[in-house]
Formats: sequence, structure tokens, C-alpha cells
Amino acid sequence: MEKKNRQVLWTIPALIIGVAVFCAPVLTPSTPAKEPGSASGRHSGRHDPVLSLSGDDAVGGDAIPLHVNLSPLSPPFKSGAIIRIALSRAAKKTVFFTRDSVFLRQASAGPPIGLSGLIAVVMHSNGRVHLRCGSAPAFRVMLPCTLSTEDETTGIVFKGHRYRGSMVLDGTRDIMVRNCLEMEDYLRGVVPLEMGKRSWQEIEALKAQAVASRTYACKHVLFRQKEPFDMLGTIADQVYGGADAETPEADSAVGSTQGLVILWGDSLADIYFHSTCGGRTAAFDEAWDKPPCPYLQSESDLDPDGKPYCAFSPLFEWDETWSAEEISSIIRRNSGRDNPGEYFSGRLRRIRVLDRFPSGRINSCRLEGKKGYFESRSDHLRFVLRRTSGSGGLLRSSNFTIVENGPRRFTLHGKGYGHGVGMCQMGAVGRARSGQSYDQILRAYFSGTEISTIN
Ligand SMILES: [Zn+2]
Repeated sequence: MEKKNRQVLWTIPALIIGVAVFCAPVLTPSTPAKEPGSASGRHSGRHDPVLSLSGDDAVGGDAIPLHVNLSPLSPPFKSGAIIRIALSRAAKKTVFFTRDSVFLRQASAGPPIGLSGLIAVVMHSNGRVHLRCGSAPAFRVMLPCTLSTEDETTGIVFKGHRYRGSMVLDGTRDIMVRNCLEMEDYLRGVVPLEMGKRSWQEIEALKAQAVASRTYACKHVLFRQKEPFDMLGTIADQVYGGADAETPEADSAVGSTQGLVILWGDSLADIYFHSTCGGRTAAFDEAWDKPPCPYLQSESDLDPDGKPYCAFSPLFEWDETWSAEEISSIIRRNSGRDNPGEYFSGRLRRIRVLDRFPSGRINSCRLEGKKGYFESRSDHLRFVLRRTSGSGGLLRSSNFTIVENGPRRFTLHGKGYGHGVGMCQMGAVGRARSGQSYDQILRAYFSGTEISTIN
């Protein structure tokens, strides 16, 4: 171990000279920025198998930011709270692009190294990566290391999207990429993707989402301090698109609610939201086999005329049709996934609804075949009937009636999209259109909670 450290200390200073020479022009303000996609390192013609990004390497293709807007970013929203978003958890190779200069800092040794343009990183061995910037010689870096911009309006491009803050690279066998940035800047990249493109007339819904997303994120930051990251940037946590996703409307919503969170007593509330409830939200204990939660009850989402606030959503009502072969195959594939030892086999003959919750969602359902039956409950039914083998393609909701029940075809007519718990996002938009403020919207879905600044 001692010997290895010495070797790194010998290696890095020598390479700093080489990289500094290469990077000196791009650190000069008058030097024109590289055009997106010029990517000299990628097509340098040098033979270096360690950093080759050709062939089947999808990372290289994703990194060329042909479609990324590289105009200066608006100023950051400073709050002092930093969040760590895992953008990639296990890559052997990864590529970044910067319009202007970024600095590479290593925990182990050495002064910061200035880099610009395309930066390719390839895992070599045991926490050591090879890094190449443009056509300069590759050099070795020990993880963890950080790429950060000097100019906060620049951003760093990763997989075709531009991100504020810094990129932390970590890992021993694979490279984990974390985007570390101000909480409020993170929310600017979340709210537009969670709520879609919204108008200024719907700003109160964006504010409600900003407060809900901030609460969700703060809870993760508090409880994941010993973990390598706080959140994923996907639907598994909150969809995060970095600086590319920002809009003036969402920026305004985040800025005007800065620091506000949803509290239950003195604690951060557990926050859930979903696309479209269909007219009534689901109670927490309806969707999942857990104890009831006082502020996650089944709430009416009807306006004073009895019309659902989310009725305008394209997912308010839906139909799903399968052939008997299709649905039988889907159930066979999915039934045993989360229930080892229990699975459906053979061909589906009939779907029998055994019990419903007051919200209309199905509590228990029996999928009957020739060789027996498989029972599924509440939100789990959406996973059993998902069309794809991955995490997508879930049945839109567990609130449906059966229109055709075999033997050749099965058709469901349903309402809503998502698990139904907490805030109905399209309902929030409908409420904003009708004049409700963001705190009225949040109180409608999280009954009994308070909105306050976090200490
Ligand atoms: Zn709704």
C-alpha cells in the first residue's frame, strides 16, 4: 500500500506538467471554446487501447453533446445545502465534456489540474483510472476525484445532458459518477420533468411540486449520509434532468418557495406523488402492505361541481387489451418475481376481483388458470400485469373494471396513472388553474401537515 502511494505521487506531478501544457490555451479566456462534437481526443488517431472509445462503447456516443445548449447558464440558487445524485453507478468507461475549463481535484495528492473539451475516463484497476483530455497524453488518477467548474454558468456535460455543480468519480472496480450540487439547483432540474411543461397560470402547481420534491430530497439527504449517494436521478427517486431541464416557470417556483418543506409535527413528512389519481387518491395502507399514515389518507380530488381536478389528464381514463396468450405470458413472467415459490403457470382463464378499497382500487384479485390461481393485492397487481420485463410498462393503475374476461381476450377499463398515494400531480395543475395556492394544494393531499422552512 505504502509503495503504491509513492508510485502515484511520483506519477502525478510529472503528468500535471504535461496536462498543464496541453490545457494552458483553454484556460486563457480569449481562447475560443471548442465546438460541441469537435472531440479531438475521440478521433485523435493515437493508438491507445486503454482509452479507446470506439466500437460498441455506447458511452462515447452518448458523450458527444451535439444537441446540448452550451450558452451560459443562469446564476445558481445558493442555499448551502448540497445533494449528491448518482448519475451512473457502475461504468467501466465514462466521458465528460466542458465548454470552458474544469478542474480535476484528487483526494490523494496534487494541485488541481485544468481540463477542457472532451474528458475520457477508463477504469484501470483498484480505484485507479486512466484519464485523457483532448489529444494530450493519458495519465493516471486515483479515485475519488472531482471535476468542478470555476465558472458556475458553464456546467459539465455527461451523457448528453449538462449539469450544474461538480462531478465526483468514485469506485474501485467500476466508476460511480455523482453530481453534487446545491439542493435548490437540483430542484430546478427536477420540477419541470416531474410536472411537464407548464404555463405561468399553473405556477402554483409547480410551487407545490417544488415543496414536495424538496421535502422528499431533504429526507434522503438526512437519512443517507453514510451511503455513497443521496438519490438516483430516475423515477426510482425523482426524475432529474440537470440544467437542460430548467425552465423559467419552474425556476420561479423553486426560487419563491426556497427552503420550504412539508412537516408532520417536527419531522419531515414522507412524501409521495403520482401522475393522475382518477378522482380520489389512495391511502398509504391501500397501496402497500404497511400501517396507515395519518397524513396519507384517501382524499377526494373533486372540484365543487363534482368534476375531478385531474380530469384533463390524458391518463385519467384508459383501456388495456391483451390476447389470452399475451396476458398469460405476462403473468407467468411477473408473478414469481417478487413472490419466490408463488407463481402463475399455464393459461389465464378468468380475472376475479375479490375486494376493492373505498377509493375504487382493487384490494385483492385472483388470476385463475387451468392449473390453479394466483392472488395479487393492491399496487402489486400493477407489477404482475406489467407489459415489459424491466421496471417500465406497469399497469397504469389498480383502479379498473373488467370489460372482457376471456377466453380469447382480456380488456380492462381503468382510471388514473400511478400508485395513487399523496399528491395527484395533474390534480395539482387542475387546482392551480382553478385559483388554489400551492399551500392549499399541498394541504388537500397531505392533510394535517404544515409547510415551514427546514432547520
Ligand atoms: Zn387527481
